[in-house]
Amino acid sequence: MQFSSNVEKLKPSATIAVSTLAKRLAAEGRDIINLSAGEPDFGTPTFVSEAAIQGIRDGQTRYTAPAGIPELRKAIAARLSERAGRDLDWEGVVVTSGAKQSLFNAIFSLFGSGDEVLIAAPYWTTYPDLVTIARAESVEVFGPEENDFKITPQELEAAATERTRGLIINTPCNPTGAVYDVAELQAIAEWCRDRDIWLISDEIYRSIHHDGDGAAPGVLSLPAASLGRYVLVDGASKSFAMTGWRIGFSFADTKVSKTFTALQSQVTSNSATPSQVAALAAYGDAVAADASIKEMGVAFRRRRDLVTARMRELLPGVPFIEPRGAFYLFFRVDGFFDGDVQDATAWCSRLLTEKGVALVPGGAFGDDRWVRMSFATSDDLLDSALTRIAEMVGAGAST
Ligand code: PLP
Repeated sequence: MQFSSNVEKLKPSATIAVSTLAKRLAAEGRDIINLSAGEPDFGTPTFVSEAAIQGIRDGQTRYTAPAGIPELRKAIAARLSERAGRDLDWEGVVVTSGAKQSLFNAIFSLFGSGDEVLIAAPYWTTYPDLVTIARAESVEVFGPEENDFKITPQELEAAATERTRGLIINTPCNPTGAVYDVAELQAIAEWCRDRDIWLISDEIYRSIHHDGDGAAPGVLSLPAASLGRYVLVDGASKSFAMTGWRIGFSFADTKVSKTFTALQSQVTSNSATPSQVAALAAYGDAVAADASIKEMGVAFRRRRDLVTARMRELLPGVPFIEPRGAFYLFFRVDGFFDGDVQDATAWCSRLLTEKGVALVPGGAFGDDRWVRMSFATSDDLLDSALTRIAEMVGAGAST
C-alpha cells in the first residue's frame, strides 16, 4: 500500500512495544506496575467538571467559533497577561483539542519542505513526527548531560544552518524534568530573535514546578524586547488533570493566530464545547484553580522527593536528572546492558517481563541509554517499582 511521502516517514512509537507487552501481561493476570503513562493520576477538580455538566444541561453543546469561545480565550489571555505583566491581545489565543493540536497548528503552518527545525533533546516523542508531517526536517540538539541536557546558544549555533526556521523547547521538560531559568530562556529567546527563527515554547507542565515559588518561568516571564517570533503552547491537560477533555491553547501574534485558526477550521473546527465550558471554569476562577494546582503540586513534590531519595539509596551511582518540574524521573541504564540487552528498549522489555514494571525507553525521546519513569502514581507503587528495579539489577550496582 502506498501512503503519502511524509506519512510514509512516520516511525511507529518506540513506546508501543513496551506498552503492548504491559497490557498483555496485565490481561494474563500478572501484577504490573505501569509507570509509562504521561498523565496526572488525580481526577479533574470538581468545580471544573461541575461547570461542564451544568453547561451541557444549559445546552452548550453546539459548534463554537473555531478558535474557541471568546470568554474562554479572554480568560486565558487575562491569566497570560498577569504572568507577562503586560496586556496581551485575547485574539492571539487559539483554543485547541489538546496542546498537541496547538503544536500541530504551529508546526504545520510555519514550516515546510526544505526547512530545518531544531528540537531540544531529549524531547517529547511527538515533536519530530509533527515536523515530518509538515515535510520539514527535524534536527536534534542535545545540551550537556551535566546541565540536565538544557541547551544554550552555543549548541544552537553549532546546529543551525541557513535552512533553520524554528526551535522547539519544552520547559519543564518531558522526559527530563529539567526547568530553564529566566536567564537561560532569555539567552535562547534572544538567539532566536537575532536569527529570525521561530521559537515554539511548550509550557504544558509549567504549573508543576517543584522548586521555587509558583509556576516555572516561561517565555512570558521575559522582557518583550527579548522575544522575536514565538508561539507559546500550553493547556489544561496536566495543570488541571484534564487529559481526556482535550483542551490546549496557543498564544502568538494575532495575525499568526488567525492562520492557525484557518488551518484548524479545516481540520477539526472548535475543541469540544463542554470541554471549553470546563476550561472556562479552570481559567476563569483563578482562586479555585490555584488551590487545586497547589494541592496537586504538594503531592508531586513529595513523590519527586521520594523517588530521588529511593534512587540514591537503592541504585547508588545510577545517573539521573533531578526533576525540577513535571512528573518524570529520567535515569541512565546503559551500565546494566549485557549480551542480550544492548539498549533501553530491550532493558525495559526485560524489566517488564521479569519484574512487571513498565517504563518508557529513552529511544522514544532521542537517547536509548535512558529510561523515563512517571511518578504520577501512589507512593507505595513508586516504592515497590524502585525496589523491583533494584532487585533486577542487583542493589548497589552502578552505571
Ligand atoms: N507537550 C508535552 C511535552 C507533553 O508531554 C504532552 C502530553 O503528554 C503534550 C504536549 C500534549 O498535551 P495534550 O494532551 O494537551 O495534547
